[in-house]
Amino acid sequence: MKITLLGTGSPIPNPDRAGAATLLESGSQRLLVDAGRGVVMRMSAAGVLPVMLTGVVITHLHSDHITDLNDVITTQWIMSAAPTPLRVYGPIGIAQVIKGILDSLEPDISYRLEHHQDSLTWRPMVEVTEVAPGITFQLDELQVTVGRTDHQPVEPTVGYRVHHENKSVVFGGDGLPCAELDQLCLGADAYVQTVMRDDIVRQVPNKRFLDILDYHSTVEQAAQTAARAGVNTLVMTHYIPGMQRGQEDEWREIAARHFSGTIILGDDLTSTTL
Ligand SMILES: [Zn+2]
Ligand SMILES: [Zn+2]
Repeated sequence: MKITLLGTGSPIPNPDRAGAATLLESGSQRLLVDAGRGVVMRMSAAGVLPVMLTGVVITHLHSDHITDLNDVITTQWIMSAAPTPLRVYGPIGIAQVIKGILDSLEPDISYRLEHHQDSLTWRPMVEVTEVAPGITFQLDELQVTVGRTDHQPVEPTVGYRVHHENKSVVFGGDGLPCAELDQLCLGADAYVQTVMRDDIVRQVPNKRFLDILDYHSTVEQAAQTAARAGVNTLVMTHYIPGMQRGQEDEWREIAARHFSGTIILGDDLTSTTL
């Protein structure tokens, strides 16, 4: 099982960090978790095209996690050799988002259908499933369990525990530690969490920036969740603020005070194999 950080950025534009997106590859299975800014570019750098995806799971509907879903949908459609649904899972509201994306693509869909009359005879096919905490579903060979996360006032938000061939990994998305997240992570091989350095954020004299302090896990909190749940590997991503080159050891050291397992963090396309 391989985890690749496709985008380690946050909503704040950064030339070196794409938006929230993580790739899970296990055997022939390829799962995309969230679809932020630049996701298709980073996927192609990782050797995976949208047509190769087993499915897409979305943790929540904040724009930085879904903004390039339209590119995933369009690229999957125009590169498919036969009508093939793109399976997308997300919390309640994802169906409305997908409908809005497809509506916005209507001119493009008509241009391409008209231009490729013989070779492209079907519209984009997105199979949307709204999921709720507590359910487990099968996505080809992947067993996926949905858990509630705490990213209030954003609701609903979910995390996913994905199990395949005796390995499991949890994608916590954005949010604070909570009992449901601990439960979802319990005994997993790896836990992927979006993180914030509150010590740096507190120094920025901007009210809108300071507002984010109350709904993101700090590096310490992510490490503490990993330790409580007894996971082997903590993967940190979605750095707020953007981690500067050369700061990696500083971020790692803060997490290591609370968690003795393997800690993975770095630039876009950093990967780890479990
Ligand atoms: Zn969010
Ligand atoms: Zn986010």
